[in-house]
Amino acid sequence: MLYVVGMGAGGISTMTREAVSALEDSALIVGYDLYIEMIREYFKDKELYSTPMRGERERCLYAIERAEKGENTAVISSGDSGIYGMASLIYELSADRDVEIRVVAGMTAAVSGAALLGAPIGHDFAVISLSDMLTPFELIEKRLRLAAQADMVIVLYNPASRKRHDYLKKACGIIKQARDINTVCGYVKNIGREGERAVVTDLDALTHTDADMFTTVFIGSSTTKNIKGKMVTPRGY
Ligand code: SAH
Repeated sequence: MLYVVGMGAGGISTMTREAVSALEDSALIVGYDLYIEMIREYFKDKELYSTPMRGERERCLYAIERAEKGENTAVISSGDSGIYGMASLIYELSADRDVEIRVVAGMTAAVSGAALLGAPIGHDFAVISLSDMLTPFELIEKRLRLAAQADMVIVLYNPASRKRHDYLKKACGIIKQARDINTVCGYVKNIGREGERAVVTDLDALTHTDADMFTTVFIGSSTTKNIKGKMVTPRGY
């Protein structure tokens, strides 16, 4: 069995019971360095295999090969493994292989981050990654523009990295063309980890905010409100 497990944002404390059971049932756990370190102390009897960032294909192929030999194996992602995670790559790489795959859902940053901000995704929302490592920036711009025009709440993943420090500013610039600068916005850093911080702000201030790779950003719709410092998008009840 090859489990593809989403751990939630914070490691063991944000894992579902199903995710913990999948790891307990595995002889080998494979993942990115940082995530393996987050769980190491809880799975001392397991073989752990980690690779640095960008080692995704190699890591997944290794897991597939071991699972094909009959060893229960888990590949871990933060949040949900189907959302900018390893689940799709595992399916692609094992298309011609003889391995049984089970994806175990995890709590994605949009959901755990929303809970810290209040209730920002109480109505329709779009999730867009600002990373142009695997997606052309023109396509990202188009999605931002259309989601902004559609007046949906927009959740931004990968708002910045060392090389892309001004992407959040660029994204806000595009969104501002269709949204009021006073639109209620928020961002959450280090969900479930040391340094966790949730900030409710507006689109104007968000433009000048420093995001990093552990930040998830929320841009409200025209109905999103700030209620006693919380970001709330009414369902309309
Ligand atoms: N599979 C993950 C997303 C991976 S993409 C999930 O479902 O959550 C990486 C992006 O996710 C980060 O740039 C950030 O925007 C968001 N993210 C992941 N973990 C986070 C955390 N602990 N705190 C805040 N944002 C996080």
